[in-house]
Amino acid sequence: MKIIMLGAPGAGKGTQAKMIAERYQIPHISTGDIFRANIKNGTQLGMEAKKYMDQGLLVPDELTVKILLDRVAQEDCKNGYVLDGFPRTIPQAEVLDKALAELGEAIDYAINVDVPDENIVRRMSGRRACLSCGATYHVEHIPPKQEGVCDNCGQALVLRDDDKPETVQNRLKVYHEQTQPLIDFYTAKGVLKTVDGTVDMKDVFEAIVSILK
Ligand code: ADP
Ligand code: ADP
Ligand code: ZN
Repeated sequence: MKIIMLGAPGAGKGTQAKMIAERYQIPHISTGDIFRANIKNGTQLGMEAKKYMDQGLLVPDELTVKILLDRVAQEDCKNGYVLDGFPRTIPQAEVLDKALAELGEAIDYAINVDVPDENIVRRMSGRRACLSCGATYHVEHIPPKQEGVCDNCGQALVLRDDDKPETVQNRLKVYHEQTQPLIDFYTAKGVLKTVDGTVDMKDVFEAIVSILK
């Protein structure tokens, strides 16, 4: 099963993608996590990506597409995967589509997690991330067991640089201009499913599971 998560930054794509990955035993692939791991390790790719990420801009397609195609070609992806944060532009979607078509494959579901902009800024300022294992929490809605500490790996949680309100506004603008057109792209392919992302995370997940059945 090949699944794409669509939605604004902070809509809950990552939260749901992790639950889907666990339930269906497929890898969760987040391009944002891959970039953040590269930044943390000080790689060339990380340094390049950071310039864009810090401003709330998209990392150029040339850099992003190659990383994603390499990742989905790995052995653990043969039974499918859930993509979180890719594609984010029409050209990215077209490259993925073409690469899959060459293998006689296609995306099965594009799940659009729908959350209005008004809710997003509030969610992002409360998001806390673990840069070690990629887990995310929310100070009010989804708190860790111990404040400021990751439940999975015990590392300190941080407010991401790009989750500050000024940057979030830029990211929303970029989302509407460059990523939202993917909703029409996947609707035309007959695989788009929209869920209400404003309800409790467990209820969002239930809605997704009933689509994937
Ligand atoms: P969020 O989960 O809040 O939407 P991500 O972790 O997916 O954020 O992405 C963080 C940043 O990483 C983005 O704002 C962008 O700069 C970069 N990024 C991640 N995925 C992509 C992509 N597919 N194309 C371009 N840039 C990307
Ligand atoms: P995305 O990957 O789309 O950027 P995340 O999954 O990181 O979004 O979620 C953004 C923030 O909102 C995180 O702090 C997360 O814990 C919180 N969150 C996710 N889903 C919900 C929900 N259904 N209700 C309230 N908060 C949520
Ligand atoms: Zn962790």
